[in-house]
Amino acid sequence: MMNYIFDIDGTLTPSRLPINPDFEIFFKNWIKNKNVYLVTGSDKEKTIEQIGLDIWNSVTRAYQSCGNQVWEKGQLIKENAFHIPVKLRQHLTTKLENSLWKEKFGNHFEQRVGLVNFSIIGRNCTQQKREEYWKWDEKNSERIEICNTIMDLFPNIEASVGGQISIDIYQKGGNKAQVLNDISDPICFFGDKMEAGGNDYPIAERLIAEKREHTLFKVKNPNETWDLLKKI
Ligand SMILES: [Mg+2]
Repeated sequence: MMNYIFDIDGTLTPSRLPINPDFEIFFKNWIKNKNVYLVTGSDKEKTIEQIGLDIWNSVTRAYQSCGNQVWEKGQLIKENAFHIPVKLRQHLTTKLENSLWKEKFGNHFEQRVGLVNFSIIGRNCTQQKREEYWKWDEKNSERIEICNTIMDLFPNIEASVGGQISIDIYQKGGNKAQVLNDISDPICFFGDKMEAGGNDYPIAERLIAEKREHTLFKVKNPNETWDLLKKI
């Protein structure tokens, strides 16, 4: 039986925002009698806010915090711990001070289960500033550069670009690809950040490297996901 894996931000919902209500109805129906897995960098509360308790409880498994916390039908079944090394925190604080993006809004480090989320602009920014930073970062590749530098300096740490304004930092191997340890083939994976440095990349990369039976659906937005699902 096919196993369907979905990223959430940018794939099922606009980044950090709730799912389109019409797509919600469609998706609720579509997942019936299918193996469906959600894989996101966000925590459970944020995900439920975005896709609703109904869908969250109905899927086969919900992998929160890039798979560092696993829920099955509302029940917690696994959790990993991660604490950021002091030297890395210092390194990122310097990045924060020296960034060419000057507007800072606070809440730059957020401890999550199994990972630390880091944002130059800060998670307290408005939606409008979030979009501005996102566009700026697309041109300037600040987040990709930060991720690459972290991995050069700290060989046991991994970092990836996620959402619009932040990066996820975790123990090597603590990325989204860990979900493939307990999901079998064949796999269909839907994600919006499959390019190198993106937080869906580790899944795509591992599926290809291990020659797993899979199909990748690299989407630009939730509407594209919706259109694709109508054909499945
Ligand atoms: Mg995404």
